[in-house]
Amino acid sequence: MSKIEEKRHSLAHLLAAAVLELYPDAKNTIGPAIDNGFYYDFDFPSPISDTDLKEIEKKMKKLSNGWRGFEKKDVTEKEVKEFFKDNPYKLELIDEIVSKGEPLTLYTSGQFTDLCRGGHVEEMKEIEPDSWKLSHLAGAYWRGDEKNKMLTRIYGLAFETGEELEAYEKQQEEAKKRDHRKLGAELNLFSVDERLGQGLILWHPKGGIIRKEIEDYERELVLKHGYDLVYTPHIASEKLFMESGHLENYIDSMYGPMEIEGEKYRLKPMNCPGHICIYQSRVHSYRDLPLRFAEFGTVYRYELSGTLQGLLRVRGFTQDDAHIFCTPEQVENEVKELLSLVDEMLKTFRYPYSIELSTRPEKAIGSSEVWEKAENLLKEVLEKEGKEYTIDAGGGAFYGPKLDFKLIDSLGRKWQGPTVQLDFNLPERFKMEYIGSDGRAHRPVMLHRVLVGSMERFFGGLIEHYAGAFPLWLAPVQARILPIGEAHFEYATSVLDKMKAAGIRAELDVSDETLGKKIRNFKTEKIPYALVIGDKELNDKKVTVESRDRGNEGAQGIEELIEKLKTEIKERK
Ligand SMILES: [Zn+2]
Ligand SMILES: [Zn+2]
Repeated sequence: MSKIEEKRHSLAHLLAAAVLELYPDAKNTIGPAIDNGFYYDFDFPSPISDTDLKEIEKKMKKLSNGWRGFEKKDVTEKEVKEFFKDNPYKLELIDEIVSKGEPLTLYTSGQFTDLCRGGHVEEMKEIEPDSWKLSHLAGAYWRGDEKNKMLTRIYGLAFETGEELEAYEKQQEEAKKRDHRKLGAELNLFSVDERLGQGLILWHPKGGIIRKEIEDYERELVLKHGYDLVYTPHIASEKLFMESGHLENYIDSMYGPMEIEGEKYRLKPMNCPGHICIYQSRVHSYRDLPLRFAEFGTVYRYELSGTLQGLLRVRGFTQDDAHIFCTPEQVENEVKELLSLVDEMLKTFRYPYSIELSTRPEKAIGSSEVWEKAENLLKEVLEKEGKEYTIDAGGGAFYGPKLDFKLIDSLGRKWQGPTVQLDFNLPERFKMEYIGSDGRAHRPVMLHRVLVGSMERFFGGLIEHYAGAFPLWLAPVQARILPIGEAHFEYATSVLDKMKAAGIRAELDVSDETLGKKIRNFKTEKIPYALVIGDKELNDKKVTVESRDRGNEGAQGIEELIEKLKTEIKERK
């Protein structure tokens, strides 16, 4: 257990001690350390509410002054069962520990004793009093099983220092403001309609234009990097998924079959089999390789309704998927190319990132020599390209090692990003071939790669990353023209026409609102530019530019402004 985990778990003991002093009839169950703090589950005789947390926290602070450390005692089953004779939860845990043949230990601090495996601070005074607090209540089934009784879980936050706790709370508050579900509704970007189904995303016109811009950008990018664009259907015969092994290994994530003329079809959970069919539609020579097929492929995967979450966890999503088929000699160069492609893309969206290399898991196909060779190759390329990376030992898929890129957003949070996956499995299963320079048939190497991964999840992350204030090239409305009065409408309309003709997404605000209100509106709607037109602007044939990000930028001529905006859009600044 790490130091911070020891601290968090020690606080769970303190929480249980305080609760039992205040509520002697409550039964304490388990209290582990978690990512940002700790929790403890209790069975209260009558429910408590969030307002009771203050009192409990006060009691904890008071008790901790009298606590020194944690005193360990080895006990027999009989002793410990006698001690917890009124607590059925602990009795159940004791039976479990005994059945596993593990030792039974009690830990005492102050007047409080708990059944525990250990992992505490040496002394309570190591814990800074302002580095932790109780945060909220939640219901939790005993042992996570909905057939069991619902308990009350009390959560606490705990960090090394008070400053860290404060920073974490600030980040959480900011994250709440940026929640993509909240902003998605406010900015009219997307929705989910229960009539259509859970976990299925409706992209509204404003979300749709952002998606189109991302897709246009990516198409441009991959064509420049030597990819071909392909399209494959949403459903496929079960026979194909039998051949690919999906029915065998992935069936829990797939939707049930539909019958068409006596043959069973399924919604595709992945795009790979389709791309392999395209590859196998012709005989390939080594001279054709590498082949790089890219597709915005919509896939459907079953997720439990309880796990669905906005755009982040859905049942249908579009992957910016690609498969590379190459000779073993070409793999190194392909990986190198992918590193530069990923780098270019993530820079455009202003995401710093980290790289993780996932290696051979226990259950894997292919010999350990093949794996070692592939892993070493990935390491070599990363090192040659001067990329820092960490290793997730055993984290690879059963069919090959992979590179995971984690995006770091503007709040410092990590998001799933691009992945590059080597595959030793599918080329074998499909008996894929190319004719080598020796005139014989060889097996190609296959790489799967995504950049944004799921378009839906990436969009959700992007909304939070930019807090809804999209850069000009992505903004659904790029400029709003604000005539001050009716006398300025005609000129304002001619400005609008010029902007539209130049391909800029502009609109006109002809409402009766005051200029002040119109300016506030364009800011709440997070539109990058407002162009104000009054008497002076009309006379000078200019507009006064209000930038969302930089404030007033003064009067500018239309042609000059249009050129400036076009450059900003083109450069995706
Ligand atoms: Zn403990
Ligand atoms: Zn694939």
